[in-house]
Amino acid sequence: MADRSYNAFEMAQSQFDKVADQLDLDEATRDLLRYNAREYHVSIPVRMDDGSFKVFRGYRVQHNDSRGPAKGGIRFHPMETIDTVRALAMWMTWKTAVVDIPLGGGKGGVICDPHNLSMREQEQICRGWVRQLSRDMGPVNDIPAPDVMTNAQHMLWMLDEFETLRGERLPGFITGKPVGMGGSLGRTEATGYGVIFTVREALKALDIPPAKTTASIQGFGNVAQYAIELFNRIGGKTICVSSWDQKDQTSYSFKKSSGVDLDELRGITDRFGGIDKDKAKGLGYEVLPGEAWIEQKVDILIPAALEHQITKENVSKINDSVKIIAEGANGPTTPEADEVISKRGIFMIPDLLANAGGVTCSYFEQVQSNMNYFWDKDEVLGKLDSKMTSAFNAVSELAEKRKLYMRDAAYVIAIGRVAQASKDRGWV
Ligand code: NAD
Repeated sequence: MADRSYNAFEMAQSQFDKVADQLDLDEATRDLLRYNAREYHVSIPVRMDDGSFKVFRGYRVQHNDSRGPAKGGIRFHPMETIDTVRALAMWMTWKTAVVDIPLGGGKGGVICDPHNLSMREQEQICRGWVRQLSRDMGPVNDIPAPDVMTNAQHMLWMLDEFETLRGERLPGFITGKPVGMGGSLGRTEATGYGVIFTVREALKALDIPPAKTTASIQGFGNVAQYAIELFNRIGGKTICVSSWDQKDQTSYSFKKSSGVDLDELRGITDRFGGIDKDKAKGLGYEVLPGEAWIEQKVDILIPAALEHQITKENVSKINDSVKIIAEGANGPTTPEADEVISKRGIFMIPDLLANAGGVTCSYFEQVQSNMNYFWDKDEVLGKLDSKMTSAFNAVSELAEKRKLYMRDAAYVIAIGRVAQASKDRGWV
C-alpha cells in the first residue's frame, strides 16, 4: 500500500497465471478468475468535528462468489488503493477455498487515517460506507469483517446502519462483532492462533520440537500478538518484533534475545499496534531499524504487518537459520523473493493458508449468528484447530506428492475448487 511502485493486483494476477498454467485452465475460466466479478467505488461525505465537510473515497470489491457469499475485511488506510483491494479480494477467494468453507472472496477499503480521526468521525465513515453499499452487500451476498485499522466497534456501527436501512435484525451481515453483540468467542485470537496451528504442523512435518524454536515477527498488531501468545504456549520463543512508529513515520524492530514479554510489550503499545520505542528501551529492548526483524538468527519468520515486505532487495538478508516462513500478513512476499525462498528450500506457509484462521472463525461467527446460539471459546478454537490442521495437511500432502512448493500446492487446491464451482454453475 505504501509503495506505489508495486502493484498488488498485478502480483495476485501473476500468482494466478502461474497456477492456471499448472492446472491447464481453459481461456474462459482464466478470464473469469483473473478479474473481479464486481467492484464499487463510493464517496463518503462526513461532517468533521470542526463543522467542515470532508469526502472520503471507499471501495468494495467482490472477486468470486461461486462457492458462497463474498467474504472479506474492510480496511482503513491513508495509502489504500483500488488495486490493493482488488488483490486482497482475489486472495480472499483462494483463502476461503483452501480451508474449504462455503464462502467466496471480497474486500473493502476506505482511504483515511484513523490516527487523525475522532471516534465520531470514524463512526460517520463506517455508516457512510454502509449507506453507499447496502444495496450490494448483505448476509447472503457479501459479508465484511475487520481488517487493518478497523475493529469490533467499527463493525457494530456498520451493522447498526445496515439493520436500520433494512428495518430488521441481520447479525449475519458482518463478522468481527463484539462478543455479546453477535460476535464469536475466539475471533480476536483466531488469525494469530491459526498461524501457529500451521507452524506447529510444519514443525511436526520437519521433525523439529517446538520447544527449541525461536521466531522473529514483523508487526505487533492483532495477528502478531496472538501468534506470539500461542507460540509461547507451544514452547517457542519470540526474540524480535517490529512495528510502525506514527510519530517518526518509520518502523522499528524491538529485540530481546531472552524472548519478548508479551504483556510487557502490550502495556507500551497503542491501539494501532505501535510500540513506544522510548519505553521499550527502558524495558531493556534493543531498538533496531524496521527491517532488522528479517535478518534475525531464528527458526521461524512471521511477517504479520503489511503486504510487499519480503522483496528481491531484502530476501538475501534472511538468515540461514530460518526453516519456516509463515505469512500472517496478506501478500508479504513478492514473486521474485518467493522464488529465492523456494530455491533455498525454506518451508513456506503461504498467506492464504497461514492466516485463514480469521476468515474461518468469521464463518463460525456467521453460523452462530444465524443459529442465534453461541459456542464456548474452547469449542470455537477446537473447531478452528481442526479446520486449519486439515487444510495444512491437504496442502502439504499435495506438495509432497507432486513435488510442489507449498504456495503452489495451496493455489492448486484453492483455484481448482473455485474453477470447478464456477464450471458446475455453468459460468464458464
Ligand atoms: P493491525 O492493524 O492490528 O496491526 C498491524 C501491525 O503492523 C501494527 O503493529 C503496526 O504497527 C505494524 N506495522 C505497520 N506497518 C509496518 C511496517 N512498515 N513495519 C513494521 N510494522 C508495521 O493489523 P492485523 O489485523 O494484525 O493485520 C496484519 C496483517 O495480517 C495484514 O496484512 C492483514 O491484512 C492480515 N490479516 C489480518 C487478519 C485479521 O484477522 N486481523 C486476517 C487475515 C490477514
